[in-house]
Order: sequence, then structure tokens, then C-alpha cells
Amino acid sequence: MVVESVPRAIPETDEDEFNPLLSAQARFDQAAERLGIDEGMQKVLRTPTREIIVHIPIMLDDGRLEVFTGYRVQHSIARGPAKGGIRYAPDVTLDEVRALASWMTWKCAVTNLPFGGGKGGVICDPAVLSNSELERITRRYTAELFDFIGPELDVPAPDMNTNEQTMAWIMDTYSMHARRTQTAVVTGKPIDLGGSRGRAEATGRGCMAVTDQALRRFGMERSNTRVVVQGFGNVGGMAAKLMSTAGFKVVCIIESDGAVYNSNGLNIPALMKHKVETGSIVDFAEGEHVDRDEAMYMETDVLLPAAKENVITSANAHRLHTKILCEGANGPTTHFADPILADKGIFVIPDILANAGGVTVSYFEWVQDRQGYFWNEQLVNDRMEEIMINSFRDVVSYADKHSVNNRTAAYMLALDRVAFAIKLRGIYA
Ligand code: NAD
Repeated sequence: MVVESVPRAIPETDEDEFNPLLSAQARFDQAAERLGIDEGMQKVLRTPTREIIVHIPIMLDDGRLEVFTGYRVQHSIARGPAKGGIRYAPDVTLDEVRALASWMTWKCAVTNLPFGGGKGGVICDPAVLSNSELERITRRYTAELFDFIGPELDVPAPDMNTNEQTMAWIMDTYSMHARRTQTAVVTGKPIDLGGSRGRAEATGRGCMAVTDQALRRFGMERSNTRVVVQGFGNVGGMAAKLMSTAGFKVVCIIESDGAVYNSNGLNIPALMKHKVETGSIVDFAEGEHVDRDEAMYMETDVLLPAAKENVITSANAHRLHTKILCEGANGPTTHFADPILADKGIFVIPDILANAGGVTVSYFEWVQDRQGYFWNEQLVNDRMEEIMINSFRDVVSYADKHSVNNRTAAYMLALDRVAFAIKLRGIYA
């Protein structure tokens, strides 16, 4: 198969390369152009359906009143209710939330889940807020959004600095207003409040499922496959643990404060225990310390960035030495790095496919809440893996058919599905 090379462009400013909205738009434009989507439909697909801004007054613990600003963007509801996380951070912007909401639309479409895409954020610094202040922010934000979220409308989930406790508060606040318990209004809840078994491992497990498919394509065996993982949190930690248990050689873990290496494969459960006991992966006895800034460039078979966005850029993509790049994080690769990876022949499993195991099990949580019937973990894992494997096959065969790289194929497939749904529904006016 010959993949058409994408012309290389050079970013003029950091903003050009790192603004998530520009990055989302660049990939959208490329896929829309390849698909030949007409200008009017492009406008519809590009523009969020609804953007909500709320200003929420909160009484702080010391008696002062403060006002926080929150966003919820529903990018698309063409294929189902909006779906996407809520993040709390001091530097959340509306542009960032818009970009992330559109990514959710494409991610749900690639995996063929019956959801659109949404995202939310509150500008606040959780590091300086008490638990009760965070609870009041969450409840007031939920109350302001009451008319716009719901099991049939928009289903939030955790994201940066929000967790299952945040989801429990949202569920409770929403239910109080609705005058009945509505567990399906959010996903990522504690299991005792309608959460799904298998959700905590889902994103890492999904990364392994698609990596396995890439190995099959190249005739590779798990036991000869070296894996380097950046980020040892929920996604990276779970992926590393599951992959090492399944027989991969997880040779290096890179964290924000150091990197640890073992050419025979690290003992991941022992490294996790060390991290829990010491708060860090450094000084782990069963591995050698390597330079964390250089570790990502070591020769490996699979590189799994699972920490944060914009780590593979136009400035460093040429230094990667991996066969497969499995994007566990959201947006780890900038759009300026894409053509460099393509020229190097790296097989990219793009984020909207690779990390979709999480939203897939969120979908199962929503289904189980609505059924009022809960599945065992094996059923959750099996069904998730089936969706990930089918999605991988869809993307890769689309790439082969259209002679494009996997990322462009994933976007094309997603845009095509959303555009098709919009056409079938028709434009109501
Ligand atoms: P997390 O906070 O649990 O873990 C992130 C880890 O990365 C932390 O341990 C942190 O110390 C480390 N880290 C931060 N900066 C780093 C750096 N420069 N180098 C190396 N390590 C660094 O977060 P998470 O839930 O695992 O999410 C990670 C990424 O995956 C994010 O981009 C997130 O949006 C994406 N994602 C998460 C899920 C999910 O289900 N949790 C689903 C889809 C996508």
C-alpha cells in the first residue's frame, strides 16, 4: 500500500503548533477535503451545536464570595446525546473545550457508539480548593446546566482533575433537581452508584487491544515486542500492567520525575508498589535510571504516550525510533509532527481510536444504568475489546482503501459517519 505523503508545514509560532483548536481544525480540514465534503456540510460539522457559559458564585471556606466560570460545549448531537468529560484547571479556555468536544464527536463516531461529542470545564485551581469548595463548585455548575444535560441530552464524565467523587456529586445534584435518581446522567461513577466494572482499566485495556491488532498486521509476537510507556497514571499504568501480564516486554516507564529501564521487561506490579510507597518511580531497585528527556527516543517496537498532549512535535518527531505509536493520551502528537511520522513509516494508532476503550466502557455504564442491570467484568472487557478490534479494522481498511495514513483515515471515517447521520436526519428548519 502506498500512503500519500502529506506536505510538511513549519509552524511559525508556538500557538500554530500547540493550540488544540487549530490542531483539531487542521485534521478536520485534511479529512473533509479528502472526502470531498461540500462547504455547507463542512460548516455544520465544524460548528458546535451549543456552547454554554456559566458564572457561578461560590462561598469559600473563609467566608469570601468568589465567582467561577464554567463551560459546556456540545459539539454534535447528530448520532446521539453529547458525551465527554469535565475538567477543572486554572487555564481552561473555551477554545480548548471546543477542540476537546469535537474530538469526542469523532472518537464516538470512529467506535460507532451512539453518542455525539461534548466537553466541559471550570476555571479553578483544585490544588488550592478544599474538598467542600470543590463540591459546591460542582453542584452549582451542575444546577446551572440542569436543562442541558441528562441521559438523553448530554452525558458528562471525569477528565483532568475530576474523578468518581465529582461524578457522584453531579449525579446527586441532577437527581435532586429531577426529583428522582438518574444515574445515567454521568459516567465514571463509583461502582456503588451505578458505575461499571472494568471502567478504571478500560482505556489501558483498549490500548493493548489495538496494539495487539497492529502486531498481527506486522506478524509480531508479544514476547518479542518492546514497549516504552510515557506516563504511569491511569492510562499508562493500566496499559503497562496489562501488557506486561500479557507477555509484552515493557522495557521503560517515563514519568514527570524520572524514567526507569529494564531490557528484559520491568516488573510492573512491583514498580506500582514502589510508586505507592515512595510517591515516585525513581530509585526502583529492579531497573536502571535513564534520562527522562531522552527515554522517549530509545529504540522500541511500541511507544505509548499516556501522559499529556503535545509531546511529539515538529521539533522532536524525527528522533522517535519506534515501529508503532499507540496514542494513549489525547493529542500527544501535534499536527505538524504527523507528516514527519508518516515519512519515517511509523504505524500510528491515533488517539481517537487508541484511547477509545474508556468512552466505550462509559457507553456500557450508561447502557447498564438505563437497563438497571449490571454486567460482570468479563462481559464488559469482552464487549469493549470487540468494539476496539472492529474499530481498528475499520480504520486500517479505510486507510488502505484511500491510501491515507491511519489518523486521516480515522477522521475521514468519523466525519463520513457524522455527515451521513446529519443527511439522514435532514436539516430541520
Ligand atoms: P493521570 O493523571 O492518571 O496520569 C498521567 C500521568 O502522566 C501522571 O502519572 C503524571 O505524573 C504523568 N506525567 C505528566 N507529565 C508527564 C511528562 N511530561 N512525562 C512523563 N509523565 C508525565 O491521567 P490519565 O487519566 O492516565 O490520562 C492521561 C492521558 O490520557 C490524558 O491525555 C487523558 O486526556 C488521556 N485519556 C484518559 C482516559 C482515561 O480513561 N483516564 C481516556 C482517554 C484519554
